[in-house]
Amino acid sequence: MSDPGGGAGDEAPAVSAPCAGTKVELAGGCHCRAVRFAVSAAPLDSGYCHCDICRRTTGAPVLAWASFPRQAFRYVASRPTVYRSSPWGERHFCPRCGAQTAFCSDRAGDTIDVNVGCLDEPRCCAPRRHEFTAERLEWLHIEDSLPRHEGEAAAGS
Ligand SMILES: [Zn+2]
Ligand SMILES: [Zn+2]
Repeated sequence: MSDPGGGAGDEAPAVSAPCAGTKVELAGGCHCRAVRFAVSAAPLDSGYCHCDICRRTTGAPVLAWASFPRQAFRYVASRPTVYRSSPWGERHFCPRCGAQTAFCSDRAGDTIDVNVGCLDEPRCCAPRRHEFTAERLEWLHIEDSLPRHEGEAAAGS
């Protein structure tokens, strides 16, 4: 919709963002609505994570995430509880209902991974690949043709 044309510039090649052409003001939050956030950018990337940490911190068999520029993301209601789930990453939770809203990795300091299930419009952030399939549950069958990575996908892939 707002294709800048040309294509020159120093940004990485644009991924075919799932929300390309749609509005870039997204909102979301936890189930009880104590924690609310807004994002003023289109997603940079998205995917499924099958890792054990995502599984245990959500209680779900797989997590769908979408990455956004960190400076485009802000909490607009109560602050979440922050839990360091690994030496390199923190997860944000609603202290009231327990919903996990986001993940911040020290290794990707300029982006934040929002849990797609917490977006008000989760349908606009379709996953683009599967990560950590080595840890996936065998009984979960997702029959798409998205790329699969046994661990973390290399940046930009
Ligand atoms: Zn809540
Ligand atoms: Zn994970």
